[in-house]
Amino acid sequence: MMFPWHKKASDKLDKMIEQNHMPHALLITGVEKIGKFDFTQSLIKKLLCPKASCDRCELCNALNNDDPMSELDHSVLIRRSHYPNLIYCRTELNDSGSMSKDIRVDQIRAFCESLGKTAESLQIGVVFYADQMNNNAANSLLKTLEEPRQNTLIILLAHNADRLPMTILSRCQAIHINPSYDKETAEWVADQIDIDTRSDYDPMQLLDSAHGVPHRAIDDLKVDFYFQYQSWQNLLLEIALSPTKIKDTEIFSDNELDVLKCLQHLISEGIKIKILNHDGANLELNKVIEKSSFNHLFKLLDDTNQAISLSQTTVNMKLLLDNVLVVWSHITNLKKYPAITNFQEH
Ligand SMILES: [Zn+2]
Repeated sequence: MMFPWHKKASDKLDKMIEQNHMPHALLITGVEKIGKFDFTQSLIKKLLCPKASCDRCELCNALNNDDPMSELDHSVLIRRSHYPNLIYCRTELNDSGSMSKDIRVDQIRAFCESLGKTAESLQIGVVFYADQMNNNAANSLLKTLEEPRQNTLIILLAHNADRLPMTILSRCQAIHINPSYDKETAEWVADQIDIDTRSDYDPMQLLDSAHGVPHRAIDDLKVDFYFQYQSWQNLLLEIALSPTKIKDTEIFSDNELDVLKCLQHLISEGIKIKILNHDGANLELNKVIEKSSFNHLFKLLDDTNQAISLSQTTVNMKLLLDNVLVVWSHITNLKKYPAITNFQEH
């Protein structure tokens, strides 16, 4: 089965297969929960199944039984597929019982050695996630990528290609799975949700609040994150329209990062509306955007992005959010864009 939001990436792959242009190494990227592993499995079925992914034959069944994401009760360097010519490499459970952060060099070595020097039929090695390889591991993999073996395909999955060394990137053909906001994807999301238990949401809005990541949208609804998100979004818009509302931000506390992401989404949506020069579905957002200048919106988007990236540091998120919100509360009538002080210290 193909997810509707995978279609574009899938078409690109089909073309490669059709024209016999499959590379030795493929890099599949996309944000968390976009479905990179499902995408990879359907690619492998296309390549190996005699009926190009029938989902019924021995091989397709073997692949469907692979779940290297969940088989974590034992620690192994690499994981073999139920299909003999396929191996997976991923982080593993360490002695303290938690997942290790890195893929280590000994894992990558074992992975490369397991891919035979020669193979009668196509052999496939999958690394997920390649952006978790430490430097030594990446260097070790690079050697294998530099000397492509016949009949061998290496597939790297990564959330963020920027974290991979250029040397690796330059050896891979990249396929990116984009988030999707279209109707077909929203319908898919709605189909996954039991209508008897939930009817109190709008699928397009739900998908929107999950930044176009359908699996995330479903999870968000399960834990009521969606409703929280809606209330943050409403308050953010109220603040931009009447700045005194900035006093009522208790609902933001302990959710600073998610609120910043919500603001980031509002501003980017707003910029899109302004560029297209027609109103969007959100009336309040239209009002805010109409009165704000491009220049200030872009600057605030930059600052919001920077604030989000600072969440990895020891910065005081509450203070940071407050400062960003002060600018946001005046976005419709700013004369001069102020500098946000927290940024200088980092
Ligand atoms: Zn099959």
